[in-house]
Amino acid sequence: MANIKQSKVYDAVVIGSGVSGSFLALELVKSGMEVLLLEAGEFFSRSNFPQKEIDANSKLYWGGGIEFNTDANIALLRPKVVGGGSIVNQALLDRFDDDALSSWKSQSGVSFFESGKLDKYYAAAEAELNIETIPEKYRNENGKIFAEGFKANGYQYAPLTRAQKNCRFEEGNDCIECLSGCRADSKQSMLITTLKAALGKGLHIKSLFEVGKIENNGEEVKIHGLYLKKYRETFKARKLILAAGAIGNTKLLLSSGFKKKLPALGRNFFTHPQFMVLALFNREISAHKGPFQSLKSADPNFRKKGFKLENVFGPPVAISMLLQGFGSEHMRFMKRLSQMACIEVAIRDTNPGIISLDKKGKVRIDKKLNDEDRKRKAAGVEAIQNIFSSQGAEEVFEGRLPIGLHLMGGLGIGENSETSVVNPEFQIHCQRNIFVADSSIFPNAPGINPSLTIMALSIKAAQEILRG
Ligand SMILES: Cc1cc2nc3c(=O)[nH]c(=O)nc-3n(C[C@H](O)[C@H](O)[C@H](O)COP(=O)(O)OP(=O)(O)OC[C@H]3O[C@@H](n4cnc5c(N)ncnc54)[C@H](O)[C@@H]3O)c2cc1C
Repeated sequence: MANIKQSKVYDAVVIGSGVSGSFLALELVKSGMEVLLLEAGEFFSRSNFPQKEIDANSKLYWGGGIEFNTDANIALLRPKVVGGGSIVNQALLDRFDDDALSSWKSQSGVSFFESGKLDKYYAAAEAELNIETIPEKYRNENGKIFAEGFKANGYQYAPLTRAQKNCRFEEGNDCIECLSGCRADSKQSMLITTLKAALGKGLHIKSLFEVGKIENNGEEVKIHGLYLKKYRETFKARKLILAAGAIGNTKLLLSSGFKKKLPALGRNFFTHPQFMVLALFNREISAHKGPFQSLKSADPNFRKKGFKLENVFGPPVAISMLLQGFGSEHMRFMKRLSQMACIEVAIRDTNPGIISLDKKGKVRIDKKLNDEDRKRKAAGVEAIQNIFSSQGAEEVFEGRLPIGLHLMGGLGIGENSETSVVNPEFQIHCQRNIFVADSSIFPNAPGINPSLTIMALSIKAAQEILRG
């Protein structure tokens, strides 16, 4: 950190070290730019990732582990750690299909959201990572129930494609641990891929630094924040890259007084709400063992109906929060944790939320499900019930809360500065030296895992930044 100086004007400062920030930082340092990356979270590595679930929640996420919408009926998980979402996510990578791209094009007017036009950026992103599927022989019991249930009901499924390498399942590794940072460096998080490469090329990283405000005079941006929650520091850059995610970027621009210039700021917030559906069997399932996520739905009917299914499980605290009941009823379920199977339905949500600030400057998320969203969820739950029933489940029950893991929007991309925040060159409409390519620019919910597209768009955005 000795080389990080407040007196210097950096070629670029990147705020947020997650999926987008790390890809952008790498592209910029490769071209010889002097880049400083600022991250509010801590810099962990395989040797010191928190090992207990409760510690991991509080050390790797904002809000002590969990945040909520204003109605407190959607749980939001927002990573806060060097590497961002790539540290805690499942690294499931999918390219967008024509449906997702065309709905983005019609909403935003951006011409490159078209089949084939992002292919070279997807390929460049994939080349930075090792991508595999889980071999059938390592599927755990939960995965087998998923596959057999799909077959019994005539639904189509496919293996999940995941950024991973040498997970050593034959040695009995349980990859559920990856949810709090992969201690075997098998998951291809940004920490061991793009950030590692960027550090090797001279990237400066300052962790535990939360940016609170920015000021831009068009030539130079001042970035004000707090180090270790108490020391005020200011950094300067010719170009600023916002990569703090949907909530982080929106909060920063609102706190910095940009709302008047950017009427669409904070609009169109989506989360792909996920509903976990659990089933009790009268035999051992051990859904937490081995590769706990291996299969997804690939059924065109499900896509048309606006939902997808994945086999999944969670660590004990997460499962206990999802279970119904209190006291003895709750205990009755928890005692049978190892006899539970789980499938998640994630919906392509249609009701846009709004991110704003309250009078104290705290983030407020207004996000509700509408009738269409509830219909999509109900169709997914019905399919899961069919799957579990065909496999002999004793009891099937829905988790208590939907969870939003794919936090998207707030700075939507588009041609029109009244209805969007970022232009097709990835610049904020009124600020040509501030760029964004992360999950905040998503114009609507694609219904597909977002990370690979964030990576591809970040590589494309880097070309625009270098051109300017
Ligand atoms: C448990 C979980 C599982 C998931 N699984 C998948 C999956 O399998 N596949 C998939 O595609 N997606 C998955 N996701 C979603 C995916 O991780 C996110 O969509 C992705 O990380 C978003 O990338 P980003 O660059 O926009 O932001 P992030 O990766 O979230 O990075 C933003 C970073 O900015 C930092 N930041 C925010 N505000 C400030 C500030 N003011 N100052 C300094 N730093 C700041 C944050 O601390 C954070 O580290 C999952 C998410 C979770 C939580």
